[in-house]
Amino acid sequence: MANRMDERRKGLEEEYFRRKDQEAIEKLRAKMKVAAEAKAAGTSSMQCPRCDGTLKENSFEDVLIDTCDKCGGVWLDSGELEQLTRKESAGWLNRLWSAEK
Ligand SMILES: [Zn+2]
Repeated sequence: MANRMDERRKGLEEEYFRRKDQEAIEKLRAKMKVAAEAKAAGTSSMQCPRCDGTLKENSFEDVLIDTCDKCGGVWLDSGELEQLTRKESAGWLNRLWSAEK
């Protein structure tokens, strides 16, 4: 009896996290769609997700990153973080990630 309860609870937890993942993926897809549309329209600039500033493309360590002209927030396209991490293999970003594992 107790086992069945545990299994049911586990199932509900899995369902909950699966749904949360799905929501996060859909939000990310929506943001990527906005970015793709802005690029297709010939404007590399798009609105900052945090404030009403505009994201401007900047080159940092040969990787293009979008930086907000108002709050200074940084926006990375998919793969850009990996590129920066690889360049910074002995740097602070990698040390930070190693420390968290
Ligand atoms: Zn901003």
